[in-house]
Amino acid sequence: MTAPLLVIDHVSKRFPLKATLGDKLTARLSGRRLSGAVHAVTDVSLTVPKGEVVGIVGESGCGKSTLGRIVSGIYAPTEGSVMLDGQPVASGREEHVNKLTTRVQMIHQDPFASLNPRMKVGETISEGPRTHGLVPASEVRAKTRALLDQVGLEGAYADRFPHQFSGGQRQRIAIARALAMQPDLLVLDEAVASLDVSIQAQVLNLFLDLRRDLGLTALFISHDLSVVRHVCDRVAIMYLGRIVELAPADELYAKPEHPYTQALFTSVPTLGTGRRAFVPIKGEIPSPIDPPSGCAFHPRCPFAGPRCRTEIPRMTDAGAGRSVACHLNDGGVEEQGAAA
Ligand code: SF4
Repeated sequence: MTAPLLVIDHVSKRFPLKATLGDKLTARLSGRRLSGAVHAVTDVSLTVPKGEVVGIVGESGCGKSTLGRIVSGIYAPTEGSVMLDGQPVASGREEHVNKLTTRVQMIHQDPFASLNPRMKVGETISEGPRTHGLVPASEVRAKTRALLDQVGLEGAYADRFPHQFSGGQRQRIAIARALAMQPDLLVLDEAVASLDVSIQAQVLNLFLDLRRDLGLTALFISHDLSVVRHVCDRVAIMYLGRIVELAPADELYAKPEHPYTQALFTSVPTLGTGRRAFVPIKGEIPSPIDPPSGCAFHPRCPFAGPRCRTEIPRMTDAGAGRSVACHLNDGGVEEQGAAA
């Protein structure tokens, strides 16, 4: 078995809390102490072999984008490490972050904001390779045109500005810019979320073609289970900063195991099939400033028992390449050892 390309090892990220007057008043009125930090990502471990695409899915605020930014070197983890091809790549030290810019490329949600409106797209695509000396100056123009062709755009578009393109075309330009750096890993953060459904399908098909042709390795971050299904080999479900289920995509979609994964599936309305009733997930996602004790999902979980309120469930092997963090899978939800 080959060594994994990406190893995320017990990574946590906390952001210092700048409490507003409202936060302080709410805490005082509810008799609770502010923890002093936003727990964005907690104890996440994940390995990704070369050529695999892993989906990271969860509700807004679950920590999936923060995890993507840690892997991309934008944020340093508070604890744990990220290794790419055996090298530490996210220690937060400048030299590592600089090295990362050529090895991990991030594609953001908003192609309107991620492209410089004052630069021609050819300059945007070639800026990174020129700066890092990846392409000889004499070949930059031809390489840029080849990249535009690769993402389904005409080479002549290199001389146009971003405002002359549609949202889908701009996201293709963002993909070309990322590929220009010859990355080992792509991190796509809600890369099609801002596009119309028909344009989403075109960009997803482009990604699938590129994946087939280039053997891409990627983290595909999305809140949309239907989008992830078509492009990912495995899917990690995140809830309040933790991975709660990780499984091959086919297994997960055939039979979600974790109660939160099950709730996510039933909270997605399906048109006309009548196969699943639409049931919104009970309650609000708790604050990452003051996460619930034990299993963070227990205030919303229909199966919660006493053990869930006190003991954090660990990821355990559930067979067929699946891991689940739930006491239903590791001895039950009643208190353990109370009679011992
Ligand atoms: Fe529900 Fe308990 Fe499992 Fe958490 S550990 S998902 S509360 S059954």
